[in-house]
Amino acid sequence: MSATAPITQDVHTIPRKLPEGPINLVGLRRDAMRDVLIEHGTPEKQAKMRVGQIWQWIYVKGLRSFDEMTNLSKDYRAKLAENFVIEVPEVVTKQVSEDGTRKYLVRIAGGHEVEVVYIPEEGRGTLCISSQVGCTLTCSFCHTGTQKLVRNLTPAEIIGQVMVARDDLGEWPEPGTPNDEARLLSNIVLMGMGEPLYNFEGVRDAMKIAMDPEGISLSRRRITLSTSGVVPEIAKTAEEIGCMLAVSFHATTDDVRDKLVPINKRWNIAELLDALRAYPKVSNSERITFEYVMLDGVNDTDEDAHRLVELIKGIPAKINLIPFNEWPGAPYKRSSNNRIRAFAHIIYKAGYASPIRKPRGEDIMAACGQLKSATERARKSRKQIEAEAGISGNA
Ligand code: SAH
Ligand code: SF4
Repeated sequence: MSATAPITQDVHTIPRKLPEGPINLVGLRRDAMRDVLIEHGTPEKQAKMRVGQIWQWIYVKGLRSFDEMTNLSKDYRAKLAENFVIEVPEVVTKQVSEDGTRKYLVRIAGGHEVEVVYIPEEGRGTLCISSQVGCTLTCSFCHTGTQKLVRNLTPAEIIGQVMVARDDLGEWPEPGTPNDEARLLSNIVLMGMGEPLYNFEGVRDAMKIAMDPEGISLSRRRITLSTSGVVPEIAKTAEEIGCMLAVSFHATTDDVRDKLVPINKRWNIAELLDALRAYPKVSNSERITFEYVMLDGVNDTDEDAHRLVELIKGIPAKINLIPFNEWPGAPYKRSSNNRIRAFAHIIYKAGYASPIRKPRGEDIMAACGQLKSATERARKSRKQIEAEAGISGNA
């Protein structure tokens, strides 16, 4: 019997079904867009130029209809409209927190819903996007982990989250130059629902679109992918995406990490650290963010802090301490502020930046790890509303 029973489901190997009906141009990389245009009658010689034009309309101007693409002939526009659509997820609800954080509940094909969180900060704004509906992993402190995976998001649904946020922020067509401080949506973090490295291709294609210099044009340094530690995909991330990497580290011994982040049973701390050591060189990024959720009495002692510093020696790193965000039925408590500060101090003294993440949008359940409960609450309240309005919930 194998000692390492499979604890994850390799969903990234399940091919995506091609949609029936018109093809969505959103989410296709330039080469793929060129192929579908040619397949539907665009002369090969013109295809590259047409991709350039359409790309600009979609990703610079933010258009959603072929009608308005005024540098294309009327006939060509009509032909495009016959075969293609420009489709992004539908925003079902939007909530705005007291601290300005915005949370969107968006609906994707099949009626599934995911959450997208926009966090405005001084001189910048970060969009936290989801890569899967639910998650196959079962980290014991994460509410998303208690929701079974429903499916991977398509590249269109991933980049579409960025597009709907820009709609809401009114950031088409002039978001400022790529590194402009004035951009409202200046950074993306893949820290919403799901494990991005179990949807590698979907995430890669969407992020390539976000980085395209003639479109949304975000620098790869402004995109951070957070993984629980899918070791074989880490090198691929460096090579094929090249974005910044964050890792959900959360423990300093395999015993504790096995419990908190069960993927550790498949790839343990030593294997993870090897992969992380190689990352900055290959991706040419400065440093890796170690995320560390502070759980009272579980992983928050001074010894843990010292061990952490020892483990990561030699890796350019920043340690992001995340006060645990509670959710109904959670088996953990947040470490006290004093404990978190003492832990941070040890790491800081060892020469690492050790910011304590300020929970944002707690009043709208938008903070890290709270996303599932938010969805369920939203669902419930809609059901209640329907019940009160006497709408029967026929399937
Ligand atoms: N699946 C990826 C990305 C999504 S989770 C990953 O695990 O890295 C984004 C971050 O939120 C991770 O560091 C995760 O460990 C953390 N997180 C999850 N639940 C949390 C909670 N209840 N409180 C605080 N942080 C949490
Ligand atoms: Fe999945 Fe990340 Fe939550 Fe773990 S922490 S269950 S990998 S979303």
